[in-house]
Amino acid sequence: MISAETISFHHGKHLQAYVDNLNKLLPGSGFEGLSLVEIARQAPAGAIFNNAGQILNHEMYFTQFKPAENVTLGTGPSVTFPAQDVTEGPVPSVTSQIEKQWGSFEAFKTEFEAKGVGLFGSGWVWLSADADGSLVITQEQGAFNPVVNGLKPLLTFDVWEHAYYLDYQNRRAAHLSALWQIIDWQVIEERYVSK
Ligand code: MN
Repeated sequence: MISAETISFHHGKHLQAYVDNLNKLLPGSGFEGLSLVEIARQAPAGAIFNNAGQILNHEMYFTQFKPAENVTLGTGPSVTFPAQDVTEGPVPSVTSQIEKQWGSFEAFKTEFEAKGVGLFGSGWVWLSADADGSLVITQEQGAFNPVVNGLKPLLTFDVWEHAYYLDYQNRRAAHLSALWQIIDWQVIEERYVSK
């Protein structure tokens, strides 16, 4: 269960602080007018890179969610892999690619969660695509986004403690496990097929 309070503090306080910080840092920095991706790729390590990166990461994070359906508080439903729900049209290509590379959605989920749990300190676990459309899971420290390495980021779990402390305290793994309930796979698919 991801509570409204968690999302409210995370979006309204933590993300807002990064936005406020960057707005103070940009004037006179030479980075005014650049996109967040351009700043992430060009700024040296430091406050501008960190705040721009965190805004970019959180924008991708919050826009990949949808309201949970049929969620029982505390437990929640088992997650159905979206490809199983497709009754018409082509199976989304990102889910096919996941099945091709990992063998099953469960195997993919297990690796993604393990990399989130195993990331030391604050950072993000990402699913990204390379230029050939192959998928890769990476662990990134701090504010880092895989676009810096030329990858196309598709899905991310925030493993900074502020993302889960209100609901789960120290139980990062339980939070990551619950996040699958609100992932909008249509958004992930749109990112995958976008140029
Ligand atoms: Mn965060």
